[in-house]
Amino acid sequence: MRTALVTGASRGIGRAIALRLGREGVRVAVHYAVDGTAAEEVVTAITEAGGEAFPVRAELGVDGDVETLFAALEKEVDGLDILVNNAGIFISGGIAEVTPEAYDRLFAVNVRAPFFIVQRALPLLRDGGRVVTITSGVTRMAFPESPAYVATKGAVEVLNRTLAKELGPRGITVNSVSPGITDTDMNAGWLRGDPRAQEEAAGQAALARVGAAEDIADVVAFVVSDDARWVTGTVLDATGGSGL
Ligand code: NAP
Repeated sequence: MRTALVTGASRGIGRAIALRLGREGVRVAVHYAVDGTAAEEVVTAITEAGGEAFPVRAELGVDGDVETLFAALEKEVDGLDILVNNAGIFISGGIAEVTPEAYDRLFAVNVRAPFFIVQRALPLLRDGGRVVTITSGVTRMAFPESPAYVATKGAVEVLNRTLAKELGPRGITVNSVSPGITDTDMNAGWLRGDPRAQEEAAGQAALARVGAAEDIADVVAFVVSDDARWVTGTVLDATGGSGL
């Protein structure tokens, strides 16, 4: 049985990835920061469907975050086949408004944490493993609403190319999956319950709808499968054709 760590798996895209991997017969470490109830629900859903999962709590973006995460993880596992760096935050603010604090927070959660999670996971990752980072379609589209967020996602996409080269001799692939606008809590404030916002968001995708978390999870399921063994160092666009 393969083992996966999915960060930010209590809600949204990470939740859908955890559920999908659970259905594939992967044992899933369901990571979360604060919403333990939501994480437990994901674990229960996986186990009730016949899979295996357990929760792992660690707030990312603070001192000692990665050690907290791996101390909890290593109580349950002695190896990893799949690492999905999904946990991330969004802070809006154009170039004129973004504060150094917001910038640092975005980089701490979206770049520093996944960087050192990969580093810490190296001795656990088995040959032939998979590293996937959830980035964003904003790395190839202008997004003045948050240049700092854009910079974090660009940073990890660039990093992944180098990590792919580094880990390739071990048969470990490293890829980014970049969603477009997806209906999760991250967008709830402006998207949910507002038909005009829904319509505008849907209009950005060639496929003319807002993405669902499952749309992204299915792409991740492909990237971690044996079918994707020859795919590494790249970005899989999962935006429904946004910005075409
Ligand atoms: P979400 O619904 O807000 O869920 C965020 C998840 O990450 C939760 O499980 C949360 O845990 C965890 N998390 C957040 N901050 C954390 C921290 N500091 N430490 C540890 N865990 C933390 O987000 P989402 O929309 O699913 O986004 C997932 C990923 O997709 C992110 O990297 C995001 O940038 C990317 N993305 C999203 C969209 C979109 O439209 N939604 C588009 C492009 C890219 P708790 O439940 O414990 O809070």
